[in-house]
Amino acid sequence: MYRPRSATPTELTAFHSDDYISFLRTVTPDNASDHARALARFNVGRTADDCPLFDGLYDFCALTTGGSIDGAKKLAGGTADIAVNWAGGLHHAKKSEASGFCYVNDIVLAILELLTRFPRVLYIDIDVHHGDGVEEAFYTTDRVMTVSLHKYGDSFFPGTGDVYDTGAGAGAHYAVNFPLRDGIDDASYERVFRPVLTKVFEVFRPSAVVLQCGADSLANDRLGCFNLTLKGHAACVEFVKSFNVPTLVLGGGGYNIRSVARCWTYETAVCLGTDIDPRIPYNDYWEYYAPDFELHIAPGTIENKNDREFLDKVKVKVLEGLRSIAAAPSVQMAELPPGADLPGPSEVTGEDKEPADRRAEARNEFFAGDNDVLMGGTNRGTPKSASSKTTTKIVAAKPGAGKAAAPKVSTAKTGAPKPAAPRTVPLKVGPPKAPAGAPRAPPKVPAAPRAATPTPTALLQNGGSAAASAGLPPLTPPRRPSPPTPPAP
Ligand SMILES: [Zn+2]
Repeated sequence: MYRPRSATPTELTAFHSDDYISFLRTVTPDNASDHARALARFNVGRTADDCPLFDGLYDFCALTTGGSIDGAKKLAGGTADIAVNWAGGLHHAKKSEASGFCYVNDIVLAILELLTRFPRVLYIDIDVHHGDGVEEAFYTTDRVMTVSLHKYGDSFFPGTGDVYDTGAGAGAHYAVNFPLRDGIDDASYERVFRPVLTKVFEVFRPSAVVLQCGADSLANDRLGCFNLTLKGHAACVEFVKSFNVPTLVLGGGGYNIRSVARCWTYETAVCLGTDIDPRIPYNDYWEYYAPDFELHIAPGTIENKNDREFLDKVKVKVLEGLRSIAAAPSVQMAELPPGADLPGPSEVTGEDKEPADRRAEARNEFFAGDNDVLMGGTNRGTPKSASSKTTTKIVAAKPGAGKAAAPKVSTAKTGAPKPAAPRTVPLKVGPPKAPAGAPRAPPKVPAAPRAATPTPTALLQNGGSAAASAGLPPLTPPRRPSPPTPPAP
């Protein structure tokens, strides 16, 4: 495990606007009255429930984002096959606006980091809510495909993510939305997830994957409305893992903390290919898991309104869109010139070279000694995962989850290190175009005007931060038109 560092302000402005990040660094509950207009403009502290202002807000954002960016660096550096940051996955945050409990979009920033080394990044979102912030950021590029399965309709937040929203310009067909209705269960979810993702991997051939594992798609979530169990949710992780592509696994939503802890514990085990005891071992929070003290949860009992006919109809529509993508995406790659490399003090130089002050023993307060989920149990492995590789997990505890607020870090080594991926530089990215097909999903925030297009060399030399701040064309979407009125419940 690795202790996450805080992302720097410069790193955050690789996607977010300077004034928004400056605001987050400045505002506190004590000086909020001095920032009334900015609070309204940036959608912070306006309501009791959504994006509240709290002490340590900026530090929280910088730390959770640092974990995701460094996870991406581990993957880009070839020192990990899977990196995990359960504190990340805040998919609603926009360039200049907080949204849906998300202030800084660590996912977009991690993807920008991955794009400095990988030609194509696939983003998969199984949170119950639409991954709107990530989709919007990459809506016009063919270098990032976003795939989101989510509840849609009945004015469910954030109101975007219709099946007809498929990207624009060079990014046409590179945004995939699978709208779902209430009550989907494990079997129904798997019936759409597997064929859609199989097609996605076939046509997009991602060189890296980011998987957002929002746990509010589980049964009995306070905001969600699905019936998934841990097994159905984790089956998505297992399936993505089976493709053996470098993968950044992130958290996201989740409003039943007992289910969230269970889910991400189980999915950590899935990532490691490790079996864990289905009985929850004694720990400081043991009573939280009463009355059964079992790891797994029962399926929900909400009526499943996703009948086979509905799911097949949406699936056909989604697969049709994917078929219109040429099998070989257009990004050209070339070897990096000798000596060229990614800058930055936090650059990953290999697991064994990790600075001593960044490595830490696990100080796991939920699990102790031999019962630690990352250490105990038998390793059953997974059939398709590579058997000889170094797997690095970056785990930052979910803030607000009691004592778990202290970051937990450790490394799991399962064999010889994997050779570093070839270093490549993108030579061509799709040109920006105005949306042609009047996509329906609207960003809540207008995108900032684009600056001069950077050269691939500039992108390379400056890392992800230059890519967005200099306005790499596909990374800044145009404003999309307003949505239709949501259908009546
Ligand atoms: Zn959510």
